Amino acid sequence: MSIPTTPPAAPPVAPPSGPSAPAPVASDFIRQKVIEDNRAGKYAGRVMTRFPPEPNGYPHIGHAKSICLNFGLAADFGGVCNLRFDDTNPLTEDMEYVEAIKDAVRWLGFDWGDREYYASDYYEQLYAWAEKLVLQGDAYVCFLSEEQFKDCRGTVQGPGKPSPTRDTSPEQNLALLRRMKAGEFDEGACVLRAKIDMASPNMKMRDPPMYRIKKAHHYRRGDAWCIYPMYDYAHGLSDAIEGVTHSLCTLEFENNRELYDWYVQKVGFAQPPEQTEFARLDLTHVIVSKRYLRRLVEERRVDGWDDPRMPTLAGLRRRGVPAAAIRAFVERVGVARANSVVEYALLEHAIREELHKSAPRRLVVEQPLPVVVEGLGPARSLVAADLPAELGPSEGREVPLSEAIFIERSDYTDAPVPGWKRLSPGGVVRLRHAGLIRCVGEDRGPDGALIGLRCAKLSEGEATAAGKGVGTIHWVDQATAVPCTLRIYELLFAAERPGTERDLLEDLHPDSKKVVQGVAEASLAAPAVGAGFQFERLGFFAADPDSRPGHPVFNRVVALKDGFVPKAAEPKAAPAKAEPKRPAAPAKAEAAPPEVLAAAAAWGVSETVARALVGEPARAAWAEAAVAAGAPRADAANLVCNELARIPLDSLAFEPAEAGAALAAVAAGALPRGLLRQALAEVERGGLGARIEALRAAAAAAPALDAQIDALLGDHPAEAARLRAGDQKLLGFFLGQLKRRAPSADPAEARRLLQAAAGA
Ligand code: ATP
Ligand code: MG
Repeated sequence: MSIPTTPPAAPPVAPPSGPSAPAPVASDFIRQKVIEDNRAGKYAGRVMTRFPPEPNGYPHIGHAKSICLNFGLAADFGGVCNLRFDDTNPLTEDMEYVEAIKDAVRWLGFDWGDREYYASDYYEQLYAWAEKLVLQGDAYVCFLSEEQFKDCRGTVQGPGKPSPTRDTSPEQNLALLRRMKAGEFDEGACVLRAKIDMASPNMKMRDPPMYRIKKAHHYRRGDAWCIYPMYDYAHGLSDAIEGVTHSLCTLEFENNRELYDWYVQKVGFAQPPEQTEFARLDLTHVIVSKRYLRRLVEERRVDGWDDPRMPTLAGLRRRGVPAAAIRAFVERVGVARANSVVEYALLEHAIREELHKSAPRRLVVEQPLPVVVEGLGPARSLVAADLPAELGPSEGREVPLSEAIFIERSDYTDAPVPGWKRLSPGGVVRLRHAGLIRCVGEDRGPDGALIGLRCAKLSEGEATAAGKGVGTIHWVDQATAVPCTLRIYELLFAAERPGTERDLLEDLHPDSKKVVQGVAEASLAAPAVGAGFQFERLGFFAADPDSRPGHPVFNRVVALKDGFVPKAAEPKAAPAKAEPKRPAAPAKAEAAPPEVLAAAAAWGVSETVARALVGEPARAAWAEAAVAAGAPRADAANLVCNELARIPLDSLAFEPAEAGAALAAVAAGALPRGLLRQALAEVERGGLGARIEALRAAAAAAPALDAQIDALLGDHPAEAARLRAGDQKLLGFFLGQLKRRAPSADPAEARRLLQAAAGA
């Protein structure tokens, strides 16, 4: 093997845009540093940043800060920003996440051009440099167990102990490293370590591991490798390979900077990138950690990664938050070196500000109460403006109106409190766009329940006499009303700092999603997905992809701020208009009783699941029966207490033994977890086994994988040509596409056939 001794030249990069570009402003300490670097002639005025996500989950609002900073800074200085997937852990990474990250960056309004890079494309180069470090005497293979490794690291007060193989010869270590790479050692048997300083006050410098053995399939590299570089080794060198100048990361990597510098210098980069740290974005009531977000998805506490309650960019987007609001929010939070927690209300504020400017106003009623208004005249259409006049001219739309309308049930009371400005017996209100009306009578059903109102339109003279100070309510014409579903979201977590005082799941707001069937004005029959509106007096809403023509589904993006909050009575009237209330934190959970703790330990499950098992012995017995059929204990308990929690056991269409066998197959890798999940979701009648067989048969009947690959290549001729020309980056693209078309295909097989089809 030839070992490069000098690093490759940095790829050519567009020079800073000419003298006409406005001078960038030092709006934060990082931009200040770049200005100073440029003044000093460092990197010859070149600016290159990168956004380096690990594709192990969907990006969240915290990542938006990093995306805006890296792409925004590069743009300010006429430089470029790369999108680089830091994919060095085969166990957690997936093409689905790569696609989600690309979608999110694009949605936020940024463009990486053709600079889409993967650390996994650098494995060969990184390995060659590892051999170089070994031959320089800067790295060695260490056989300490994980336990011994920890014991030898020493403490902050005292130095560590050298590994027994620390001073072995470069030749010996090169041979061992090559055997590691060839798969001759078991996982955990040894690691390659950098030889730095076992007495360094910086623990990261005490001979950190560079490579570990993982005999796992990598989502892009397949089974080509069984040793994988550690983050610290791969990250800085990937920056250097690309020619990055300013490597921006969050504060927790401060101690890693010394190691970052050590690696790039030892490999021989003359002008390596420099790392600068900034504070993470953290928000009250929100979790910004992919690991915990994944848990919410996997335990089905939310409807997937793009659930509108999720702080993922996919979730925020589906909810209807405009990308411009996220950028404005990140801008307002700013870039600093001190960690802090930002109020969730600030995000809501940015969203309101953006939607206030742009969202067309519409009339929608959440809880319809029929009203007949005498004197409104024949059915006709009004023309109403989309935006209030103070926002400038806007398009109008036609709003049908006739004597039979719906108003909001909460806009009427027969027992008004002082200050009540809505409808009551004999009371007067203004119908938005349609004049003043007085309530002249109630209609009640046999049980005394209110079923409708009778009102009369005020004459011009009466209207003038009623004067100002009359409240305005919204309404929808009955004859042309469009039935609609409104999804009203509250904070996903009631707690300000979820998961800090007890298990995360126990901090979930029990009522974070409410679904209401309402009625909308005729113009809302078929809104474009994602289109945002202000439903007057209700809040800002956006059309969800679940909408069907004639029956739109709207997500509440954010509530309106203002509105009347009654002092007494009418508890129903308040929620829609009141200041969006923080849900009261549920009463603190008492410390779990001993039997719950014991169950949690015995089953290997969370306290929440343990409580369910203890509280419902039949579920525990069901889980035991599934275990008897081969299911791992925790899987059986989680299944019956999470996925199946809402289904009474005696109405389950399958036996615990069937489920146990399926869980065992999943654990053994013989059945894709997604397929079992799908089967569970679909099983209504017939056994689970039958459903699994049906899905398997459907998968088998699907066009053969190679035919699908041919079709796929045919659908993307330009990309196919690049792949055939040897551009390996396209392999990931096609694998991702293929995964969508043939979700149950074996990834290794798919990669093999794809490579064959591309003539690789
Ligand atoms: P998580 O903790 O959610 O898994 P991560 O840091 O492991 O996040 P990466 O995919 O490694 O996720 O992050 C990509 C980039 O985004 C990194 O440079 C990281 O520092 C940055 N980043 C991640 N979370 C935040 C945050 N909350 N605020 C600002 N930047 C962040
Ligand atoms: Mg990370």
